[in-house]
Amino acid sequence: MAERTSVAPTAARSAVDLHAHSTASDGELDPAALIAQAALAGVRMLALTDHDSVAGIDSAQQAAHAAGLRLIAGVELSVTWEQRTLHVVGLGIDPDAAGLADGLKRLQQQRQIRARAIAAKVERLGVSGAYARAEGLAAGGQITRSHFARLLIDAGICRDAKRAFRRYLANGKPAYVATQWPDLEQTLGWIKSAGGLAVLAHPRRYTIGTTARGRLLTQFRALGGDGIEVCCGTSDAAEIQTSAGEAREYGLAGSVASDFHGRLQPWNRLGGVAALPQGIASIAERLDACRARY
Ligand code: AMP
Ligand code: MN
Ligand code: MN
Ligand code: MN
Repeated sequence: MAERTSVAPTAARSAVDLHAHSTASDGELDPAALIAQAALAGVRMLALTDHDSVAGIDSAQQAAHAAGLRLIAGVELSVTWEQRTLHVVGLGIDPDAAGLADGLKRLQQQRQIRARAIAAKVERLGVSGAYARAEGLAAGGQITRSHFARLLIDAGICRDAKRAFRRYLANGKPAYVATQWPDLEQTLGWIKSAGGLAVLAHPRRYTIGTTARGRLLTQFRALGGDGIEVCCGTSDAAEIQTSAGEAREYGLAGSVASDFHGRLQPWNRLGGVAALPQGIASIAERLDACRARY
């Protein structure tokens, strides 16, 4: 029998992708175009997980039906935990659930207030009319830092999104605005009340010490967290091993998650994520088991 934990760098690609963005937040493609591209890339089960919004789900659902692809209704919620921003993905949610809708309303208000403050800072960097332009780029979807990155690139201030974040938009940089997002308990409460599974997004992207990470995973599990993204768009074999170890240690199921956004983040490709290592409980299988509900 194969070693349970071994993950080759050339591991099979997954036909499951439980983390992707559309124009309802900072994705490049509208929900229908996203579904079409996912189907072309060989994805059979896709979760639409826009930042703090479920606005794309209805049209994604219709397109998925036509394409014969299974769409999981999802959302990626912004959370503050011990002064850090984390992202928690809700999967298999009822997008119309009242508790979740209240939470989203609050998050969206916070995003709007924060966007005004970021815009003021971006204007000081030499981009005029930054709020209106970011709002125009978002085109009715949530305004995110990715939209301000695009403004900085279009103004010739930065060459690409990575540089825009590193120099201006990341924590502590000139256009950063600190925000107190809702806490983990509230966030998981909203996801659970909408019938969803809660998954800790891109765990290797947080700069966090070992002790604090252990505390986070313990709390996440205790508050009803279900899963952790084990295979992400940018994961190498070592990162997959580390996250798979955390999944086992804390009793979390594993998720496969490209975090696809389109051309602004070309390193996250649809259908390009490694399949879950053997021996790790699968969030996709849990969603499959509840097929009747979603
Ligand atoms: P926000 O939720 O508005 O703070 O924006 C966060 C989003 O910015 C993430 O979901 C990514 O899409 C994008 N982002 C964060 N860091 C980077 C980076 N270093 N390079 C490119 N995009 C980034
Ligand atoms: Mn994003
Ligand atoms: Mn995220
Ligand atoms: Mn994401």
